[in-house]
Amino acid sequence: MQLFDNIGEQGHEQVVFFHHKDSGLRAIVAIHDTTLGPALGGLRMWPYSCEDEAVKDVLRLSRGMTYKAAVAGLNLGGGKAVLIGNPETDKSEALFRSLGRFIGSLGGRYITAEDVGTTVDDMEYIFQETDRVVGVHPVHGGSGDPSPFTAYGTLEGIRACLNRRYGHTDFSKLSYAVQGVGSVGGKLAVLLRERGAKVFACDLNEDRVQQMADEHGIEPVPMNEIYDVDANVFAPCALGGIINADTVPRLRCEIVAGSANNQLESEEWGTELEQREILYAPDYAINSGGLINVALELQGYDRERAYQAIETIYTNVSNIFRIAARDEIPSWQAANRLAEERIGAIASTRMPYTRRFKDRLSGRMPWRPSQS
Ligand code: NAD
Repeated sequence: MQLFDNIGEQGHEQVVFFHHKDSGLRAIVAIHDTTLGPALGGLRMWPYSCEDEAVKDVLRLSRGMTYKAAVAGLNLGGGKAVLIGNPETDKSEALFRSLGRFIGSLGGRYITAEDVGTTVDDMEYIFQETDRVVGVHPVHGGSGDPSPFTAYGTLEGIRACLNRRYGHTDFSKLSYAVQGVGSVGGKLAVLLRERGAKVFACDLNEDRVQQMADEHGIEPVPMNEIYDVDANVFAPCALGGIINADTVPRLRCEIVAGSANNQLESEEWGTELEQREILYAPDYAINSGGLINVALELQGYDRERAYQAIETIYTNVSNIFRIAARDEIPSWQAANRLAEERIGAIASTRMPYTRRFKDRLSGRMPWRPSQS
């Protein structure tokens, strides 16, 4: 891989390789953009088949975090870390503590969190070495399980879609097909039922669907029929890549809005939804409730405040639709534009002499050049 070409193309600021011989640590931290603030993004532990694969993943994921934080209105940049190893067999206290020390050495430019393959317990080890970590145990000011917040944020995003599409936000007047009733989808289905909505749902785990039917009155649907359901809203809350050539022609909904990451198999399917007059809530905007929640740990966590902050997802998703209409572009593209406009606007407020000004304030540089 031509690393500098790749970094240059995607616009990363910094990519750091960490190695610690005794603990076996092999980790890469990618800081994509810190215009809005320090880069925040999870630590993924995965048995990558080669280093190129790990580098590609960390570059892609960290760039995605820049866009997610920008659209969420957070004063945070985008970053990510990958730890090469098997999460089942290769974890140790020494491994995470050595990574914690390395993250601390970045001087606050990167803040880590849980991701695929890592847990709250791993974050606790990192926390012993640096405070640049969120998603720790509640006893240390952490916010706990993010899924209720992601589900609530998804509900707010759906509310923005209803307003855009139907001119009202009455959940009970419409029907919903939820794909996957796991941590987020299950809670979303309950929130919708509590608002009097008709909810169809499927899951790989049939017992779970049956339990949701018994306890919350959802209507079970076989897994491969969820795309054909005659519901107003399709809410993907399981897998990525499910908006594709096979599924789009089958969709009977008017809105696609759910929590799953990377819903579009490729961007062209977002454009195709637009052409079919199906409103699409860009995934990284509607599923940002977990990020908004965890980011509050940096200011001193407050659960009530977290729920209030997450309600901004209604405004964020509405703004995406406004930009899509303004520029006559599909919503997936409008989300990217919203992020780029915000980052561009904040970057342009930076005064070129800020650094010198700070140096003078700190006494490192004299205010006036010496006369001698
Ligand atoms: P989860 O593992 O708890 O739930 C996923 C559910 O989907 C499981 O019940 C699983 O059985 C089911 N499933 C898997 N394949 C399926 C299929 N083909 N059809 C139907 N159901 C299937 O995960 P989660 O935390 O609820 O996350 C759901 C999605 O939301 C993921 O894409 C995740 O990346 C995304 N997301 C989650 C959060 C969060 O806070 N947990 C935040 C942002 C995005």
